Amino acid sequence: MAQSKEERILNFVLQNAVRGDPQSVVDTIDKYCSQKEWAMNVGAEKGLILDKILEETKPSVLLELGTYCGYSAVRIARLLKPSARLLTIEFNPDFAAIARQMIEFAGVQDKVKILEGPSQTIIPQLKKKHEVDTLDFVFLDHWKDRYLPDTILLLEHGLLRKGSVILADNVIVPGAPEFIKYIRNNSRFECTNYPSHVEYMKVKDAMEKAVFVG
Ligand code: SAM
Ligand code: MG
Repeated sequence: MAQSKEERILNFVLQNAVRGDPQSVVDTIDKYCSQKEWAMNVGAEKGLILDKILEETKPSVLLELGTYCGYSAVRIARLLKPSARLLTIEFNPDFAAIARQMIEFAGVQDKVKILEGPSQTIIPQLKKKHEVDTLDFVFLDHWKDRYLPDTILLLEHGLLRKGSVILADNVIVPGAPEFIKYIRNNSRFECTNYPSHVEYMKVKDAMEKAVFVG
């Protein structure tokens, strides 16, 4: 059977990156996706914004919605302190299998746990099934019409504490207008916009940081 794009990305990493070196895995994926085939990773440019916010926030308990091939999970994991943990949710089993191998090859498997299934099913289980108290950092990067309902689910399940940081990718392309309207008009969040570009392209995009102020 023909290989999928995601399998080709993984194979390029297995053949060209350094095992156990997450930076090399990130750089190798960026090389493939900027030169050979576009893919929906957060990418190098918006990745620097993500890195900066992680360095400022120093989170211990992190949630990512949308794992895809594991690019951002590896990118995030490489900056985490030893005790920190990232849970990343993915509902496509083929992508989850690719990400599992990517994360293992990068050597960050002790920091990252993939939870397979729809975000709307897993978020309500985080406290009881996955021993989460509250989240320090949430990266929203799954389908854009889920940004708002999943943020509301995080609130309803008491998963945010004063100072929790939500970072949303792609708030211009494809865009998440309902999420942006809700979060900017909500006095419980303080928002900052970070202009950037769509991964591996010159088209304008942005990330939105929303800090929960309680
Ligand atoms: N964060 C990844 C990165 O930067 O490397 C990219 C994630 S990609 C843009 C979005 C992913 O979210 C896809 O793999 C898709 O299958 C997954 N997804 C979309 N909606 C979801 C949902 N409701 N629950 C779980 N996964 C979802
Ligand atoms: Mg994205």
